Amino acid sequence: MIIVLLGPPGAGKGTQGERLAARLDVPKIATGDVLRAAVRDGTPLGLEAKAAMDRGDLVPDDVIMGIMKEALAAPSAARGAILDGVVRTTPQAEGLASMLVDLGRQVDAVLLFDIAEDELVRRLSGRTTCDACQRPFFGREPGEPCGTDGNGTLVRRKDDEPDAVRKRLQVYRDQTSPVINWYEEHGPRVVRIDAIGTLEEVESRALLVLGY
Ligand code: AMP
Repeated sequence: MIIVLLGPPGAGKGTQGERLAARLDVPKIATGDVLRAAVRDGTPLGLEAKAAMDRGDLVPDDVIMGIMKEALAAPSAARGAILDGVVRTTPQAEGLASMLVDLGRQVDAVLLFDIAEDELVRRLSGRTTCDACQRPFFGREPGEPCGTDGNGTLVRRKDDEPDAVRKRLQVYRDQTSPVINWYEEHGPRVVRIDAIGTLEEVESRALLVLGY
C-alpha cells in the first residue's frame, strides 16, 4: 500500500506515519527527514536545501522528485510505503502519480490530518526534535539527550521558530492545500482524520480508515 499523509506542519504526520509504518510493516518515507539529515551531513543536497528550509519555504519540486524516486525504488518499499510530507505541491502529486504508473503502482490512500491553526502554533512552539532519530518531543528542553536512540541530542528546529512557523503555515495554505483538491479530482478520495487526541486515538482513527 502506498499511503500519502497530508496535513499542516505539526499535525502529527511524522509521529503517526511512524506508528502506521510499524503497524503495516512498510517504511516511512519523509522528505523532511531526508533533507535534515543531508543538511546535518553537509552534502550537496543539504547545502541546496538549507536556506529554504530555515525560512520555512519549500525546496524545489525537482529536488523532491529525486528523493521520492530513490526512496520508492528501494527494495524496502516494494510492499508499500507511508509518505509523510512528501507531497506538498500539485506538481509533486502529478510527478508521484506518473512515477508510480511507470512502476505499475498507484497511491492507495490519502489521509488528511485535520487540526486548527492555533493548536499547531501551540504544538510547534513547544517542540524539540532529536538531531539523530528526528523524533519530536513536547515539554522537553534543547540540549537534553534524546534517550531513545542512544546518542541523539534534542534541538529546536530552526523552522519551529515563530517567524518560520508563520511562514510554513502560509506555505501550507497557498501551496499544499491545493493538493487536497488535486486528489479529490484524480483520486484516491481524501479521508480526513481528526488529529486532536491521544497518539492511540489518532492512530486508531487512521487504522480504521485503512481497514484495520
Ligand atoms: P517537514 O519535516 O516535513 O516539516 O519538512 C521540513 C522542511 O523540509 C519543509 O519546511 C520544507 O522546507 C522541506 N520539505 C520537506 N518535504 C518537502 C516537500 N515535499 N516539498 C518541498 N519542501 C519540502
